[in-house]
Amino acid sequence: MSTTAASTEEMRQWTRQSLARLRQEAARSADTHLLKLEFPGFPGIDFYFKDEAAHPTGSLKHRLARSLYLYALCNGRLRRGQPVVDASSGSTAISEAWFARLLGLQFTAVMPACTAPRKIADVQALGGHCDLVDDPAQVYERAAWHATNGACHLDQFGLAERATDWRGNNNIAESIIGQLAGEPHPEPAWIVCGAGTGGTSATIGRYLRYRSLPTGLCVADPAGSAFIHGWHRRDRDATCSHPTVIEGIGRPRVEPGFLFDVVDEVVEVPDTASIAAMRLLEEHLGRRYGGSSGTNLVGCLRLAAQMRADGIEGSIVSLLCDPGERYDQTLYDPAWLTRRGLDPSGAEAALRAIIATGEWHGL
Ligand SMILES: *Cc1c(COP(=O)(O)O)cnc(C)c1O
Repeated sequence: MSTTAASTEEMRQWTRQSLARLRQEAARSADTHLLKLEFPGFPGIDFYFKDEAAHPTGSLKHRLARSLYLYALCNGRLRRGQPVVDASSGSTAISEAWFARLLGLQFTAVMPACTAPRKIADVQALGGHCDLVDDPAQVYERAAWHATNGACHLDQFGLAERATDWRGNNNIAESIIGQLAGEPHPEPAWIVCGAGTGGTSATIGRYLRYRSLPTGLCVADPAGSAFIHGWHRRDRDATCSHPTVIEGIGRPRVEPGFLFDVVDEVVEVPDTASIAAMRLLEEHLGRRYGGSSGTNLVGCLRLAAQMRADGIEGSIVSLLCDPGERYDQTLYDPAWLTRRGLDPSGAEAALRAIIATGEWHGL
């Protein structure tokens, strides 16, 4: 056998082992809970929140990281001993670092320096290395630079929408629809999510069509995000008009995975409202979740108020994306908010009124 044939066989052998490890991990993991909530102002409307913080790595990015490693392995792009790199706002980096350790690979996360300190510490605790850049828009170029030096670029922003099997294979949409089967309104009126890589909205939007469901897909994103501007104008060159403190969503540019045509509605959420809603979730669920989960709750309430005004009953489903502890030193720290001039008290009063009366009078 020539050296090349031997090394090819050796590589296929390592790929087989790695795929077996990913299958075993999937078999050890359970599906995430679909938690039900009712609000006094919305009789006849059931709210469901899929608890993606319950994954072993604490966020919905556990699904994405597994898909990205599978995609790299099955494309023959990832070899034994090859370092792995990706650009991230933190959640993906934590999940990717965890899978890198599972597969015995070195991992580097390229993240904005302003990322919540707890996420940086979590990546490091998993043996990952953090390469911090000052400008969040630099992460793409920096990750690509690592790849030119031999690292495998998992490329969540470039590949999220492709790496996930949108027809099924226990993707998030298939799981939600399965879990709703015995509920009063098993075909939801709306599913609400944010847009970071766009992978979640792409998967849900495609699956809803594939299964011929009547459900609408709404993206709730920080006010002025590239997704919001881009969706309205179908403009892939759109950029954000103001930055956000909500991590994981509200991207500065239209990511390759943003599929505008599968999204039926967008709701623009000011950061103060996301933060207020994040706190309300804690009151209703007895547990803390991150800022993007608050953004999702605001989106749900906006749609529910419209349903109520139109006399429509039904269900609305959304996601709890990651746990609140990651933001102890940021979004959950009143002094941190004050330093940034963020006061969520007005939005909190408005949201409490919406929950009590079912009427939307703005935030
Ligand atoms: C990534 C992320 C999202 C958005 O999900 P995508 O599938 O990337 O669009 C929302 N919230 C958090 C905390 C995230 O990390």
